[in-house]
Amino acid sequence: MRKKFVAGNWKMYKTTAEALEFAASFKALYRNTGAEAGICAPFTQLAALKEALAGTDIKLGAQNVHFEEKGAYTGEISVTMLREIGVDYTIVGHSERREYFAETDETVNKKLHKLYEHGILPILCVGENLAQRDAGTAEAVVGTQLEKDLAGLGAVQVKLLVIAYEPIWAIGTGRTATPDQAQEMCAFIRRTVASLYDADTADKLRVQFGGSVKPENAAEILSKADVDGALVGGASLVPEDLIKIIEFQGGQI
Ligand code: PGA
Repeated sequence: MRKKFVAGNWKMYKTTAEALEFAASFKALYRNTGAEAGICAPFTQLAALKEALAGTDIKLGAQNVHFEEKGAYTGEISVTMLREIGVDYTIVGHSERREYFAETDETVNKKLHKLYEHGILPILCVGENLAQRDAGTAEAVVGTQLEKDLAGLGAVQVKLLVIAYEPIWAIGTGRTATPDQAQEMCAFIRRTVASLYDADTADKLRVQFGGSVKPENAAEILSKADVDGALVGGASLVPEDLIKIIEFQGGQI
């Protein structure tokens, strides 16, 4: 049985002071509903959040990592640096990184391998843009991303993976995919993993939906059979909103 997982993606929001203020309110409201909850914060907030969330089961995630262990890569952050802080997850291949920071399927793939070497679990983002959806190529686009991004990973690793299906046209736009569209693509992702690996791997893998998830639409989207949680941007900046989304989950699927 897959455990649902709601993760906040703060993107480039919140100073450390603001992050600590969030953590205090969030902890006061949070209760374990059986679902997993996490926050993916900017690098400079991670250490403070790790301390602030100590003693809770709220997971901590980064939003990116470099694929080399160390070296002359000015401005980059390595997996060992993240591991020292004690992050549980790292988002990899978010569409904003693919679009604005030249992230490719090849670098995404290298990052996934590096994270698994060091025991940090990836949240791999995939998804099509509006032109691709309108052209009817959403499945082809996401299928290709999966094939390239997962290259060389073993079934044992993919079973632990979280994939966030995020249609680019629904991110930060207020335009949400319908629950049926979310279900269709999350099921497609699971079928693709079944064909690349096997049915058991596909069954263990968790697939989140992301793109304007908020308290008002969470229940309907997250009740779908193949939607195992959400990656939440805008609504994760407000503790009460993120709590509401987590509490719609009710734990096991
Ligand atoms: P959004 O962002 O919820 O603000 O649409 C989701 C994401 O990009 O992870």
